[in-house]
Amino acid sequence: MFITMLIDTHAHLDQLSDCPAALKRAYDAGVTGVIAVSEGLLHSQRNLEIARASTLSKIYLACGIHPSEAHKEDLNAMKEFIRDHRPDITAIGEIGLDFWYRWARKDEEIKSRQRQVFRELLAEALKYDLPVSIHSRGAWDDCFTIVKELGIRRAVFHWYSGPLDILDKILAEDYLISVTPSLAYSVEAQLAAQHAPVKQILIETDSPVFYRLPENKDEGFSAEPKDVSKTLELYCGLKKCDIQSTAEILNNNAIKFFKLS
Ligand SMILES: [Zn+2]
Repeated sequence: MFITMLIDTHAHLDQLSDCPAALKRAYDAGVTGVIAVSEGLLHSQRNLEIARASTLSKIYLACGIHPSEAHKEDLNAMKEFIRDHRPDITAIGEIGLDFWYRWARKDEEIKSRQRQVFRELLAEALKYDLPVSIHSRGAWDDCFTIVKELGIRRAVFHWYSGPLDILDKILAEDYLISVTPSLAYSVEAQLAAQHAPVKQILIETDSPVFYRLPENKDEGFSAEPKDVSKTLELYCGLKKCDIQSTAEILNNNAIKFFKLS
C-alpha cells in the first residue's frame, strides 16, 4: 500500500508523551495534516505553539472546551483566545456534551454547565464561520438537537457510537461522523461506519487514546497520528472498499469540511 497523503482529523497533540517524535513518525508515514483539537485554554495555547513550530505535517488548530472540563474552564477566556487568534484557528473543538460519566448524568448543575459551554462555543463557530468537532457520548440526541437548532452547517460527530435513528437525523442534515481505530472492536462504531455513506466520513485517531486489542483485552496501544492509516485500513476492511481510492475520498472530505488549503 502506498498512500501519499492522509489527514488525521482529530488528535490531542498536546497530550502526546513525545509530540515531535510522533509528528516525525506521522510525516514519514504519509500523514500530511493533523487537526489538533483542544480540551481547554491551556491545551489550545500548547497546540498553537505546536502548530507554529511544525516543519513537517501541517498542523491545524481547533480550540474548544471538552465537556469533561466544562465546569472547570473559564468560558470567557476561551472566547477571548478564539477572537485574538482567529487567523490561526481552523475549527472549534473538541466541544459537546457527555452524559456517559455517572457523575455528570446525575448532576443537573454539571449538565446545564456543559450545555451552556457547548451552546456558547457553537455560537463562536457561527460567528467566525468555523466547523465544529463534537463529542456526543451518551448525549447524542441532545447534541444533534442543539447543533441543528443553532443552524450549524459544518459539524462532525466525532467517534460516533450512538443509535442509528439519531445517526439518520445527523446524516439527513449533511453532518459528518468520524471513525477511529475503535473500528477494530466497537460494534456501535462498526454499525455507524457501515450505515453512513463514505462522503460523510472523516478518519482520525483521537491520539493519545489507548485502544485495547480485540484479541487480547490486556494489550493495546496509545494512538498517535500515524495510526490514522490503521483507521483507514479498518474502515476499508469493514466496507470492503479499495484503500487507495477511499483514502482520496476521505482526504477530500476533510479538505472540504475544514476548508484546508
Ligand atoms: Zn478527542
